[in-house]
Order: sequence, then structure tokens, then C-alpha cells
Amino acid sequence: MSARVDAGPGLDHLLVRLSDPIITGYACAHCGDAARAAEYCLRRASDFDDRITVCAACGERAVRIEIRGELTLGELAASFDGRPVPAKFVLVRAAAGALCIDLEEQTDGE
Ligand SMILES: [Zn+2]
Repeated sequence: MSARVDAGPGLDHLLVRLSDPIITGYACAHCGDAARAAEYCLRRASDFDDRITVCAACGERAVRIEIRGELTLGELAASFDGRPVPAKFVLVRAAAGALCIDLEEQTDGE
């Protein structure tokens, strides 16, 4: 049960589909190292290849990466907290229909 009170009850649970799946988790299943998680998390999964699964701490190809293409609006807001989302666009589904929001301008210069 959540006792949170915020300005937009319900909106937090709105599902947002990202044009580019992002990395939301990074931890080595072998040694538990997650020291480099900040380097990878919240970046586009397509920016990396499978070398990301080799652990920098123990050298094993055992890093578990969590990649998600859909997050709730609440998760997005909490994760990015004002920083630009690294996606070309997001698709928001609401009861009344779907809305595509273009984010291209925010990712210029990358
Ligand atoms: Zn490791």
C-alpha cells in the first residue's frame, strides 16, 4: 500500500513507450559488482554492444542488464528528474487514445 500524495494521482501509472529502450539496471550476477551502473543506466541500450556484459570487476561475462522500452510516467519522472530522456519520441497511451511526443530537439548535438 502506498501513502504517497502527489499532484497528479493516476498519471504516475500512465504507461510510456520509449522509441529507444533504455538500460534500467546493471549488476554482475557473478560478483555482485554494480559500481559502474551509473555509466550505463538511463542510457540507450543501442549505444552499447554485448561487451557491456563483461564485468569490469571480475572479468566474467556475467553482468545482468535490465533493458526496458516501457516505463510508467512516475518511473520516468523519478529516474530522470528533469534531465532529457534519451529517446527520439515517446508514446503515451491513455483511455482516450495514444499520444506521440517528439523529443528530437532535446537530443540534438549527441
Ligand atoms: Zn563481476
